[in-house]
Amino acid sequence: MSILTQAKLHPSLQHQLHTSHSPILRTAVHCSAATTTKPNPNPNPKKLVLEPPIRRLEPPPPLLPNPTRPQLNDPSLLSTWSHRAWVASGCTTVLVSLAKSITCAANSHMWAEPILAGLVGYVLADLGSGVYHWGIDNYGGASTPIFGAQIEAFQGHHKWPWTITRREFANNLHALARVVTFIVLPIDLVCDDPIVNGFVAVCSGSIMFSQQFHAWAHGTKSRLPPLVVALQDFGVLVSRSQHSAHHREPYNNNYCIVSGVWNEFLDKHKVFEALEMILFFKQGVRPRSWSEPSSEWTEETETTSQLTAQ
Ligand SMILES: [Zn+2]
Ligand SMILES: [Zn+2]
Repeated sequence: MSILTQAKLHPSLQHQLHTSHSPILRTAVHCSAATTTKPNPNPNPKKLVLEPPIRRLEPPPPLLPNPTRPQLNDPSLLSTWSHRAWVASGCTTVLVSLAKSITCAANSHMWAEPILAGLVGYVLADLGSGVYHWGIDNYGGASTPIFGAQIEAFQGHHKWPWTITRREFANNLHALARVVTFIVLPIDLVCDDPIVNGFVAVCSGSIMFSQQFHAWAHGTKSRLPPLVVALQDFGVLVSRSQHSAHHREPYNNNYCIVSGVWNEFLDKHKVFEALEMILFFKQGVRPRSWSEPSSEWTEETETTSQLTAQ
């Protein structure tokens, strides 16, 4: 016995299938059935074909407009006084938290716990940098509230990774310094705990400076300070080789940019891929990394003429 079943589609949906350019999820289930009372004369029984309900998916995030190629002396790479002010305020709030931790630790003669809290803060800052980087790399667009500028900046970074090495210090750090100021300042005002202040100081400081660590990961060994190269080699800072893998196909790994200590675990266990699947099936939103490598992800390298123009 064999059965062939096909789902009937509403005429409007059939029309849509032939005219729409929106992505359609199709799933087919194939199985076969044969009687046991009588030998089947047909050695290749017809297959049962089930066409499940067709589900329309949300389109992928809108592609960002192709920004103009930055120049070596592009004003957008320079620091402004506003950038410097935000970095100064971020550093101040971090140092106040650190000073409070040390003062409280000295008063209570308790050193091991605040130091341990600082180490935990450093390790978790790497994880936080990876989650944040994954989120803005894959979701939203230039018009997304709050994060739009960062999303656009990271897309530009994928296309022209070398620009981060030309970006001035405060220009590179000011966005995260602003976030750190707003979060750490209230904690500084109300908290006098050596452990909490130690954790907050190291974690927030590491997150604020993650963009500097990221810039160093794009540097060449001969041009970086020897201490930075040593810290990269020891795994204290994200290494150049580890981060360069982020800028190569399949563009969906090595998101952490503080120490990179979480990258192997997250990639080996496909944590971000699992989160992407959950978001896809729950919300119907596709991450950008599922797209074929497009011009957004294709790196344009620094040209010889630009290098010689330095
Ligand atoms: Zn990225
Ligand atoms: Zn990078």
